[in-house]
Amino acid sequence: MHLSSTLLRSAAAAAAGAAVGAWLGSRLGPGWSVLAAVLGAAAGGAVGPAWSLARQRARASAPMPEPPGDTVTGLPGRAQFLARLASERAGPLAGAAAPRALLMLGLDRLRVLNDSLGHEVGDQWLREAGGRLADAFDPPGLVARLSNDEFILLAPAQPVRADDSALIGLGEALLHRVRRPFLADGGEHHLSASAGATWLEPGKPIEQALREVDLALRRAKRAGRDCVRVFEPAMLAEHDERGRLLAALRRAVRTQEFRLHYQPQVDRLGRVVGAEALLRWNSPELGPIEPSRFIPLAEESGLIVPIGRAVIRDACAVLAWWAQDPATALLTLSVNVSPHQFQHPGFVEEVRLALLTAGVAPGLLKLEVTESVIISDMPGVQARMQALRDLGVRLSLDDFGVGYSSLSYLKHLPLSQLKIDQVFVRNMITDPREAALVRTVIALARDLSLELVAEGVETAEQREMLSDLGCGLYQGYLFGRPVPLESLCVVQ
Ligand code: C2E
Ligand code: MG
Ligand code: MG
Repeated sequence: MHLSSTLLRSAAAAAAGAAVGAWLGSRLGPGWSVLAAVLGAAAGGAVGPAWSLARQRARASAPMPEPPGDTVTGLPGRAQFLARLASERAGPLAGAAAPRALLMLGLDRLRVLNDSLGHEVGDQWLREAGGRLADAFDPPGLVARLSNDEFILLAPAQPVRADDSALIGLGEALLHRVRRPFLADGGEHHLSASAGATWLEPGKPIEQALREVDLALRRAKRAGRDCVRVFEPAMLAEHDERGRLLAALRRAVRTQEFRLHYQPQVDRLGRVVGAEALLRWNSPELGPIEPSRFIPLAEESGLIVPIGRAVIRDACAVLAWWAQDPATALLTLSVNVSPHQFQHPGFVEEVRLALLTAGVAPGLLKLEVTESVIISDMPGVQARMQALRDLGVRLSLDDFGVGYSSLSYLKHLPLSQLKIDQVFVRNMITDPREAALVRTVIALARDLSLELVAEGVETAEQREMLSDLGCGLYQGYLFGRPVPLESLCVVQ
């Protein structure tokens, strides 16, 4: 089914454009009518398939061969797309043309597919997805493979009302096509894509429009993928700000501007049983920056790998130091590990070397991962977790309850600990439903023989309620904020 008809069925609001659509349809074929209706076409003069005419003219006057297309998908490549677009825009109908929807679509987790099922299946998926996208427009728009996992799509020229809801509708319909099951390697795979969208107005330079869709696509990916984002001018300012932060972060890695702070974890009797190491960055030029701002950027840029490596090394050095005193020798130290770091091929070996170099008991190191690590590639994650368990390291599931919380993985992964997220702890006193959730998580941890830590415990009332419900380990401002190692009070 073509995108345009899919859109029509879902777009009850298209009634206003229907008359125009029907007129266009009788003149240009059914596909036009549908897309025009959905995009809320304004009544106006006839619009022809400008690009094909322009291309024919360009071909007649310029015998230059087109640059080669993409060999995997058979679609035009970046250079071909730009050349076709340029000749279309230079064509006779270009001046009168209405804004056209431009979308950049990125296949989600192509790398994971390549890594788990091999590049042949990855290429099959690229071909399949490219085919679904190329068939989406009727009459055809311009669809090309832009880079590794990215496609660029220019909707056919037609009179449209250039508002964002039209772009979102179009983007959603494209993502819907990509979500259809993909059959390969004897199985059915459910894959997704993310999309950025903007309008290509007649006078707008293509480089600018490409930058806009690119920024919108990055935003869609950061929003969790499998969604559409439309370009907004504020994204440019945000992009510049991120650029500044990233430059400072790169320097910070070189000049080692990060410090670890430590927050105590206590048992029912208030005894400190361990601590969590939390990164702090006080940039000489930008001042102190929250982990919630710089960790995602470090994650996206890959800088989390060297940063995380140093964190694990330092944590092991602290454990070695604690080991020298019987009063601290049994304290555990928890370290956060983000998805990119966890998936990095050298990760398990790095942990092994850090433990070996510091000469510490592996069981005292706890690696905290979040559910976002787990959903990325279950078989790979399972194998890696098992390799870490085989080293003797313990694994903890951080922020439990706020992510996907598919309970089935709890059974299959070699976890030792759950950390119930602070939002539940914060609200459980006033909201009985949150209290019920906490009770359920505590029972679940008990049934699965997992240790449970409550995060964000700020009041004695919260501690009491958690204790009554059966939770025996706590972390939060009630017991101590994250502080430098020398200020951490671990001996009662
Ligand atoms: P997280 O691992 O869930 O860490 C707990 C966060 O809650 C910390 O925020 C901690 O300061 C804060 N917190 C602890 N007790 C309380 C409380 O009673 N009330 C409130 N309101 N907050 C409390 P922080 O240090 O800003 O870290 C935020 C997140 O950044 C961490 O969440 C973790 O996901 C990430 N992060 C921190 N250090 C590292 C690191 O070394 N590597 C990686 N990959 N991520 C890190
Ligand atoms: Mg944590
Ligand atoms: Mg947490």
